[in-house]
Amino acid sequence: MKLTFHGGAKTVTGSCILLQINKLRILIDCGLWQGSEEIESRNWLPFGFPPSKIDYVILTHAHLDHCGLIPRLVREGFAGEILCTEPTRDLTRLILADSAQLHEEEAALLNKKERRRGGGPIRPLYDLEEVLASLDRFADPIPLNKTIDLAPGVKLQLRDAGHVLGAAFVQLRVTEGRKRPKRLLFSGDLGNTDKLLTPDPAEPEPADLVVLESTYGERAHRSMRDSIAELRQAILLTFARGGNVLIPSSALERSQELLAVLFQLYKRKEFPGCQVFLDSPLAISATKVFRRYSEYLKPDEVQALAQSPNAFDFPALRFVRSSAESKVINSISSHAIIIAGSGMCTGGRILHHLKHQLWRPECSVVFVGYQAEGTLGRRLIEGARTVRIFGEEIAVRAQIWTINGFSAHADQPGLLRWLSHAQKPAQIFLVHGEMPSLMALKQAIHAKLGWTAHIADWKETVEI
Ligand SMILES: [Zn+2]
Repeated sequence: MKLTFHGGAKTVTGSCILLQINKLRILIDCGLWQGSEEIESRNWLPFGFPPSKIDYVILTHAHLDHCGLIPRLVREGFAGEILCTEPTRDLTRLILADSAQLHEEEAALLNKKERRRGGGPIRPLYDLEEVLASLDRFADPIPLNKTIDLAPGVKLQLRDAGHVLGAAFVQLRVTEGRKRPKRLLFSGDLGNTDKLLTPDPAEPEPADLVVLESTYGERAHRSMRDSIAELRQAILLTFARGGNVLIPSSALERSQELLAVLFQLYKRKEFPGCQVFLDSPLAISATKVFRRYSEYLKPDEVQALAQSPNAFDFPALRFVRSSAESKVINSISSHAIIIAGSGMCTGGRILHHLKHQLWRPECSVVFVGYQAEGTLGRRLIEGARTVRIFGEEIAVRAQIWTINGFSAHADQPGLLRWLSHAQKPAQIFLVHGEMPSLMALKQAIHAKLGWTAHIADWKETVEI
């Protein structure tokens, strides 16, 4: 058996691991590279394997950095099956369609410039038609905790990763040609504990080999309670200055979690008089999927909330679908909370809002999710004084907040707790993290569990 790390190694995007069990070839995720131009140029590199030889893609969840290259994989010959949970399948449809639209818009813009320069046409990374073709490859969804046979002697189980709706970690049991079965565990992205909507990650079974994400391998998050208090403080201080609050947020989970938080504040009458805009057609559609799969959410009052006809809704909230409505928000100078994508400010409507509000010292930008290297979001949290948006230099005078307690990712104590259930695996590979996080997690695993982990390198192949 062999593992090759085709993405998500020594970085947080482009997740893609090839597992070869004799002639069976399985990809765990096939994600988009996101971040700097250099990183994103990898989306155009040839896959490091023939797509037509892949039998299965096991998709851990619907985030673009895990599913975003599937349409290219299908275009280049993948004819196997994509396996995932039902919510992941529905959310992936939305996320890929939105991604295709962004790639088509980007290509159209580049083509205008190219034509003026006398150059040839530039095609998008993939288009909507290719997304639709890739949706045909999705097999019947797999329920969490159900064991299925992938091939003779290879059993698969998806377990709740507690990361975003439908997210799973992967347990494989390989018995073919072996005296003792080999148990493989792939974390995908693991969730933070104590979230409002999705449950904590399930405990994995003991494993011989673990591939573990490391996004927040170097830190401990503040509690949800403290994070909600901090968000409320950010909102009140900003409104007292006469400004607006911008929250760059991924359409999936962060936006719904924020709405649940704001709804709680509203119910407790701790909510200031203001307007809240969910300015993201994708987030609005994803919110509907949450309502459809409320059995995947926490069995408490939030689940009841998701089942009500006005899920996540309260009087101050406006769902903004059209770009004309979105532009109207620019005329509001204060007492507005604007939630818009993308979460790392790499595109989407948040860019328009940043252009209009970032230079205003009375405003705030509140980051609630991970900001990958090379993204505009990362430059802002690292204290850039000016940034370029749509070719214009914009001064950064708004107050920048980072509240990691809302993160969809486990922190170091959470990762160690989850890993400890694997009971001293012979091999541990760390992926999906930047170097400081990977190093800190490797050291913590050694110090706290006494186990040795290896930081996987891009394109590295290991015998297992
Ligand atoms: Zn994720």
